[in-house]
Amino acid sequence: MGDPIKQQTSRPTLAVVGGGVIGLTCALAAADAGRRVQVFDAGARDRAAWVAAGMLGSLGEGHPGEDELLRRTVESVRRWPALVERLADPSIMAAHDSLFVAASSADAEHLRNLADFVWSQQPRVADDLRPVNAGDIRRLEPVLGSRLHSGYLVRGEGAVDNRRLLDRLREALLAAGGSVVDRRVGDLSEVDADDVVVAAGLGTRALLPDIGLHAAKGEILRLRRTRWSVPPPTHVVRARMRARSVYLVPRDDGIVVGATQYEPFEESSAAPEVGGVADLLADAVDLMPGLRTYELVEAGAGMRPCSADGLPIIDRVDERVVVATGHGRNGILLAPYTAERVMELLDEQRPTASASASAGGENRC
Ligand SMILES: Cc1cc2nc3c(=O)[nH]c(=O)nc-3n(C[C@H](O)[C@H](O)[C@H](O)COP(=O)(O)OP(=O)(O)OC[C@H]3O[C@@H](n4cnc5c(N)ncnc54)[C@H](O)[C@@H]3O)c2cc1C
Repeated sequence: MGDPIKQQTSRPTLAVVGGGVIGLTCALAAADAGRRVQVFDAGARDRAAWVAAGMLGSLGEGHPGEDELLRRTVESVRRWPALVERLADPSIMAAHDSLFVAASSADAEHLRNLADFVWSQQPRVADDLRPVNAGDIRRLEPVLGSRLHSGYLVRGEGAVDNRRLLDRLREALLAAGGSVVDRRVGDLSEVDADDVVVAAGLGTRALLPDIGLHAAKGEILRLRRTRWSVPPPTHVVRARMRARSVYLVPRDDGIVVGATQYEPFEESSAAPEVGGVADLLADAVDLMPGLRTYELVEAGAGMRPCSADGLPIIDRVDERVVVATGHGRNGILLAPYTAERVMELLDEQRPTASASASAGGENRC
């Protein structure tokens, strides 16, 4: 065990372990609610939120069987405008809407099944999810290839620039009186605080071994526009092509192309593999031929922290500790929802040790 990590204020109230998107969003919500907050973070190398694409896509993430996840993601998307306003930087938003496109009739059938599921679960969002034909797609995104079959336009579901978001969250936390210590916590007993939120992504496994988490590796590319290039699309473009999925997410200076998913993943190699990068590039160039003149500036890989049932794990562990992890492929999207739920748990009267041992939470841990 390392040296005790002391809060630097006379009113220690909350320590957050993990300075990724979940930890920082929870920390900011707590600081805004008047708590003294200190975040401990092991660094960007272990941070899925740094690698990610930043899509806020609940409707496109609605896979049959994931009814509860869809409900929570829809709720969280609604909270995003308030978070962007709180961070006082509209340029965090990289796109406001998403365009789903299919390359063939078989791919279109796949998208139709997803849309039917969403409509059956969330009838209120019907107006936000609109079918489009090949002509609509050409009009909405002229930079895409001309052989696309059909798709859906999803209003109000875009993307954030995830790296800008992390910077703004950290700045806002500091401005609200919180602090960040760049240090890995080895054991929760090192942390001297009234309450502790463990939001350490996959690192949660080392601190709370009973939490069931596994990694899903994902490869992702960052491309930069050159002076000869066509501009990036204005929507998030999510394509189904020959039964594979690829997406393009605009940035000020280029495009993020993603992403592979290997699940469950034996964590032997955290580096991107040639096969995954080659497939992503081939599909992306097929989708948007003008990408050939972009520069490939980064091929990265990250580990999504996944729970067994695909739902985030947001729960009280004991009298002092609350956990928020297991956000899988949706951690950025689910950050505002998670922060609200964590605040509810912190504000609830703390259970006694015996009561917390028998209590059931929103999820298991
Ligand atoms: C390729 C890829 C694409 C993705 N695209 C999207 C997307 O478009 N939209 C979306 O919503 N989600 C996306 N995700 C998922 C998203 O990145 C994760 O769900 C999210 O980052 C989880 O947030 P987190 O804060 O729990 O974990 P992380 O972002 O991994 O942060 C955990 C933090 O905890 C710190 N930490 C770990 N252990 C300790 C310790 N012992 N002490 C102190 N600090 C510690 C780490 O250093 C890290 O900073 C993507 C993921 C990948 C890999």
